Amino acid sequence: MRWLWLWLTCTGLPLAAQTAAPLSRAAETITEGDVMRRIGAIAADSMLGRATPSAGLERTAEYVASEFRRAGLRPAGEKGGYLQRFAVTRWTIDTSRSAIQLEANGALGVARVGTDARYVVGTIPSRPVRGSVVLLAGPDTPTATVGVKVKDRVVLLLVDFSKPLSPTLNRRLVDLARAGPQAVVVLSNRDSATFAQRLSAAARPRLTRDQEPATDEGAPVVEVHERALGPVLAAAGIDPARLRRLEQDDSRTLSGLTIELSLARKVVAQARVPNVAGILGGSDPRLRHEYVVFSAHIDHIGISPGERDSVNPGERDSVNNGADDNASGVAGLLELVEAFSQPGVRPKRSLLFLAPSGEEDGLLGSAHFTEHPTVPLQQVVANLNMDLVGRNWRDSVIAVGLEQSDLGATLGRVVQAHPELGMTPIADRWPEERIFYRSDHYNFARKGVPILFFTSGTHADYHQPSDEPHTIDGEKVARLVRLLFYLGAAVADTGSRPRWTPESYRQIVERR
Ligand SMILES: [Zn+2]
Repeated sequence: MRWLWLWLTCTGLPLAAQTAAPLSRAAETITEGDVMRRIGAIAADSMLGRATPSAGLERTAEYVASEFRRAGLRPAGEKGGYLQRFAVTRWTIDTSRSAIQLEANGALGVARVGTDARYVVGTIPSRPVRGSVVLLAGPDTPTATVGVKVKDRVVLLLVDFSKPLSPTLNRRLVDLARAGPQAVVVLSNRDSATFAQRLSAAARPRLTRDQEPATDEGAPVVEVHERALGPVLAAAGIDPARLRRLEQDDSRTLSGLTIELSLARKVVAQARVPNVAGILGGSDPRLRHEYVVFSAHIDHIGISPGERDSVNPGERDSVNNGADDNASGVAGLLELVEAFSQPGVRPKRSLLFLAPSGEEDGLLGSAHFTEHPTVPLQQVVANLNMDLVGRNWRDSVIAVGLEQSDLGATLGRVVQAHPELGMTPIADRWPEERIFYRSDHYNFARKGVPILFFTSGTHADYHQPSDEPHTIDGEKVARLVRLLFYLGAAVADTGSRPRWTPESYRQIVERR
């Protein structure tokens, strides 16, 4: 009797009990069978590796959109649909119109891009750039605080490739390129085999968005092999071997040497490619204007023409199926859509499900989405991202970002409440791989949205045609996705939004 009385009059406890049952019933719709069926569809050979752009990517986007529609999600793309398109160009350096020319005391040296030089990174200037030269040499180069003015100059940077390179070299190079020089010319002494490899890697077409913020890119950086420039370097009084042996930094302006850099692009393909986005509206009249974003990229790296055996065409495979990267994550995303659309589980905040493309080419789709969000980005309280979740350890998953915000503590509570899932989040095992910067959550984090990134890491089949559905542990994926379901429900129902730790906010958002 007393129990019944309580049940009729006290809304607190019984309500909690009522919501727990639908929640766990909904979690049970996330199954190994469904996960494997979805991975089979997305990572099929017929999807041809889902390159950005490609017909296979379009079919994958259609499949995801049709699943969103079937679950009754509200379209969160453009023009009332689930797709948000953005323009991309695939291009290479036009080697016939690209060269680096040095001139000193009447001597002239030319390094041709494609044979003696390669473009590394940075803005392609619309016309040749030319300037006086600042030399940076010594053990700590390059740093942005070299004590000489690099702005509007061409920086000639001596790097010793015969020794192990500093792990911070790339980052310091980017800082230098953003410090305002006309160009950065890295003078290289790589052995010819390694240099040839670098040349052929640099010749592969790159994909960029047509509307990139110009500020992010920095000056063009090229690597030039010194073998092409012996006489002109001598005429300028530069002895590369001696400069690489310096024990102290030597930074100075070189009068009498000028460098002119010409770089031109050759367009291979242009297209407007899709992100897919859908919203499950929240149940709370106030909190439903805030969003928890689940994400998993739909694109992969396409086909590897060299992999097909010309003698036995059936024997080898050229399709990079991307079953783990990232059909596993997309399958998880669709399982979350299905589970959250079950009766009785709708959380207070809205859920936005995002399937970006262009991830493999530089997180392009999530960059576009976070620059042109279809809901106000200030109203996005968290991003929970999945990428490569189907391999390696059965009982644990890497959760990047645990220490960055109180999402880590929320995850800890959810894990404790669900021991039946047998899934323990662990901290990043390979900080040197910098995986925080290597999937779509990064674009949310840098814009101030707290994130957690779930991955079970890479393996021997990573970015190979052998990343195929039969290698995926669907049972483990299902348990992980159930955990993310409970986590998403907790984040979407909690009164206060997730909060950054001040230290992480400074480092990641304010970049101080
Ligand atoms: Zn990948």
